[in-house]
Amino acid sequence: MIYFDTRTCVYPNCFEENVKSHAVSRNISLESIAENYHLYSFIPKRDSRDTKKPLIDRISTNKATRHHCFCDKHEETFKRLDDYEISSTRDVLLQIYRTLCVSHNQEKTALIDMYKLNDLNAHKMIPRSDVELALKGSEFEKIIPMLDDPRILEAAQRKLKFQISELFDYELRKDEELIYKIKSINDTIDDKAIPLNELQVITNERFDHTIFYYKLDFKIPVALSAIQHAGVGNTRVKFYSMVVPYQNSTVIIGLIPNLLLADSERTEKVNNYFSSKYNVVKYVESLISISDGWFITPSIIDNMPKEKSRFFETDCMFLNERKLFKDYDFSIFDDLKVKELGLSADDEELSFIPERPEYSARYEKMLEAMQLKVPEK
Ligand SMILES: [Zn+2]
Repeated sequence: MIYFDTRTCVYPNCFEENVKSHAVSRNISLESIAENYHLYSFIPKRDSRDTKKPLIDRISTNKATRHHCFCDKHEETFKRLDDYEISSTRDVLLQIYRTLCVSHNQEKTALIDMYKLNDLNAHKMIPRSDVELALKGSEFEKIIPMLDDPRILEAAQRKLKFQISELFDYELRKDEELIYKIKSINDTIDDKAIPLNELQVITNERFDHTIFYYKLDFKIPVALSAIQHAGVGNTRVKFYSMVVPYQNSTVIIGLIPNLLLADSERTEKVNNYFSSKYNVVKYVESLISISDGWFITPSIIDNMPKEKSRFFETDCMFLNERKLFKDYDFSIFDDLKVKELGLSADDEELSFIPERPEYSARYEKMLEAMQLKVPEK
């Protein structure tokens, strides 16, 4: 059996027990957008029938973006990000490193919970039909008729559980390799000050990802640290995004697999999002519309007309309906668009509420989309 560990410090060659680490600085980022030390986030609630209900709820800045990750000593590695705004290329890489490590442990924890990976008896819960499905067409197909023997069934269940663990272990190791690469680029890259309102890109020949970042000269009142899963042919890839707000600025960072950029339309779309401040805000709205790792200033939601906030809360439930790098057809930062971007307060964009299908139909589709498949090697 493979044991998955989430309680050891993620820093290379450290074996200390970890503590809970913030992916986004609480001191200078989360607090800069909080009201009474709280933010709003999408936290769907399980109801009595074991279905989930959409809910935007309060969360303290102490808990937002936080998960077990580094030991006390290695938390110090990120002190710069907790004391000062991101202002150089090395800060950008340090932020990516921090987000990747926290997300990695978060994903690992979710997989362990969902597939009971560390549970010695979890294989017994694999239904016989799943065992049969896995054996069909494999070199062990001939044992299917013998599954009536409980000992054979259990051996096959155990084997299948091990294969599932192996596949997740393989996926998680790929992420770890990416984390080490980010760290080594961070250790060696020329440290340059980052300009305001200008898209910057980092590529490296040893590296199959591209980093892009942009520092905007006003605050977008949201913090975001999120992963999007995408498929390119048979390959599964992950796109990481970060939005780090400060008192008078916002840093937006993307770490994107080059495979996704092979599509020139997508590259053009990314460039276009950073061609004006208005488009940057639209980009952040589109990231919110496909992620659940965002934390927003409560009054942004509280000040929406009821019909708008209710629409938004429900829409957050159905991330599966939207795609990466597609505009969100709903406006979140209404005041900001009026104050910073020159939209008129009665601009149609601000009051527009899109039509959506019936809730139950949307819920069905979401469940279909959530059928997590075991990743293919
Ligand atoms: Zn450590």
